[in-house]
Amino acid sequence: MAVIGIMSAMHEELAAVLAAMPDEQRVQVAGRDFWVGHWQGHSVVAVLSRIGKVAAATTATVLLERFGVDTLVFTGVAGGLGTDVRVGDVVVAQGLLQHDMDASPLFPRHEVPLYGRAHFEADAGLSAQLAAASQQVLAHAGQHLGAGTLAEFALNAPRVHQGMVISGDRFVSTSAESQALRQALPEALAVEMEGAAVAQVCHDYGVPFAAVRTISDRADDGAHTDFQRFIREVASRYSLAILSQWLSRRQPA
Ligand code: SAH
Repeated sequence: MAVIGIMSAMHEELAAVLAAMPDEQRVQVAGRDFWVGHWQGHSVVAVLSRIGKVAAATTATVLLERFGVDTLVFTGVAGGLGTDVRVGDVVVAQGLLQHDMDASPLFPRHEVPLYGRAHFEADAGLSAQLAAASQQVLAHAGQHLGAGTLAEFALNAPRVHQGMVISGDRFVSTSAESQALRQALPEALAVEMEGAAVAQVCHDYGVPFAAVRTISDRADDGAHTDFQRFIREVASRYSLAILSQWLSRRQPA
């Protein structure tokens, strides 16, 4: 039977997923709690990704090696870099890249040595399904969040974007830094700390991967404001609704 791996970057997101799984059993590996069970008739293993590239890569490797996951979906939050990528929007990754990888002059900047590439593609079919589910959820954002939350975070007609997501071991929280990233990688829509590492692991194993990120901040000097509240009241509700919508449309294999 197909097994879907769900990696959540945030405790609150994982808690929402676990509340929707009727039968999850905890299995501890590498100091992590993996939750094995079902959701809407699908076999699912849910886990907290942990933060940063190495921690997330280890979590992904265990999901693939130990739990035989054959589809991996990542959810979390990210800083918006693209000019029209606003707080409360959702970005579904098409390609992912490590913005802090730099083995130049031996290899071109951002290229991962010995892979001959800087970009790791998300699975197109899986990403299209998740983008469609995200559209559905954002079209009815008020139903999922409540009108009060929409107003409080000034969320107005949130949108779904698809494009490049960049990852690095740094929380980007100054305008100078996000400007430098925009200059180096003008196509990047969002910046976070795990996605490209997990994409690389999935590439190694030939397992389809997709990443869905709610924009929590603009990766600038205001990037820390109300971060926890946003995750609790917006991002974790979006993640739950998007995953649930996606699974409800997917045939159990
Ligand atoms: N306080 C949080 C830690 C957040 S670390 C906690 O206790 O869990 C930042 C997380 O948000 C990472 O998962 C990262 O991928 C994402 N993220 C959101 N905005 C970001 C930004 N501006 N730069 C880098 N990562 C960002």
